[in-house]
Amino acid sequence: MRRKETIESIKNYDLDKLAVGVLGSHSALQILHGARKEGLNTVLITIEDRVPFYSEFKHLISNFVIIRKWSDLCREDVISKLKKLNTILVPHGSYVEYVGLRCAEEIDVPIFGLRTLFKIEASQREKMSLLRSAGVKVPREYQCSEDFDGLVIVKLDGAKGGRGYFLAKRKEEVVEGVKKLIEEGVIDSFERVLIQEYVIGVPAYYHYFYSPVLSRVEILGADIRYETSVDGLKRIPPKLQGFMDVEPTFVVVGNIPLVLRESLLPKILDYGYKFVKATQEILPPGIIGPFCLESIIKDNLDIIVFEFSGRIVAGTNIYVSGSPYSQLYWDEPMSTGRRIAREIKLAVERDMIDKIVT
Ligand code: AMP
Repeated sequence: MRRKETIESIKNYDLDKLAVGVLGSHSALQILHGARKEGLNTVLITIEDRVPFYSEFKHLISNFVIIRKWSDLCREDVISKLKKLNTILVPHGSYVEYVGLRCAEEIDVPIFGLRTLFKIEASQREKMSLLRSAGVKVPREYQCSEDFDGLVIVKLDGAKGGRGYFLAKRKEEVVEGVKKLIEEGVIDSFERVLIQEYVIGVPAYYHYFYSPVLSRVEILGADIRYETSVDGLKRIPPKLQGFMDVEPTFVVVGNIPLVLRESLLPKILDYGYKFVKATQEILPPGIIGPFCLESIIKDNLDIIVFEFSGRIVAGTNIYVSGSPYSQLYWDEPMSTGRRIAREIKLAVERDMIDKIVT
């Protein structure tokens, strides 16, 4: 339904004056920079407080749209302003969290991406179910009432940057930990948690781009996340860790670049194609543009995907001037932000604009 309306609205756009619109957060600067590199107009949508910061980058911004609060994005006057500027909205990791699921999904402005995926992304269980349908390897999942072997990680719904996650060795620890989170008002029920086998290995996050125009998946980069306190605990010898009453936490503070063994790339690319195919079958027309698979690579080089993001991830900010992989595809400095703008331009040239927005 929404897809039809937004495609209608893009028909009224002046395709020679398209603008990339983004909320002022997450990877906005990279997206704006990429759009300007490709000669597109840009719209930065932001709240008052952040105007001074983004004004430092006004060479990247053709138009500011200033709102009082993030959910004002869906106000009629804001939407009509965005349409007047021929805006294609680029959702990033903060988009749904800032404006709320309903506004994010229903906004009557063309979105570069698959808007029906937002709802799936809001639920850890539905996310894992989509990954299972894609046929990629995933960690074992447990119910609260179930006994388990080894270590589990307990995760909460929503994009919280790992906040509130905890590890447990026994069923009772899971129940106790979840009750505490409910008492603290972090979640409202046991339904909001996912209990997953804690996979031993190293984390690796792959930045993909699916191009409906070129019908191909590109690997645009990879990163690992720098998480407090789990990454800091490595600095303390294991024999001393026993003396401290610390539980590892997984709060993301930044991203570190990663270049992978080339022999891993065929499987990583295959996982990317499998994911795209699953979204095309389950949520047609399927994913558009950037997405990320988040994995642990085990010592037998098995790749276990524990999470995905259906939008641009903050790890791509490492590669504003391109990554070792984007260089191989494009032979020019190609960030994910710029790749989005390039796709828009290619779609206009080939009369395929309806294939890249929902
Ligand atoms: P997420 O919010 O799902 O990206 O998870 C936050 C962090 O928890 C990840 O970056 C990993 O360090 C860790 N993690 C999540 N799921 C697993 C898992 N099943 N096994 C091992 N580590 C995990």
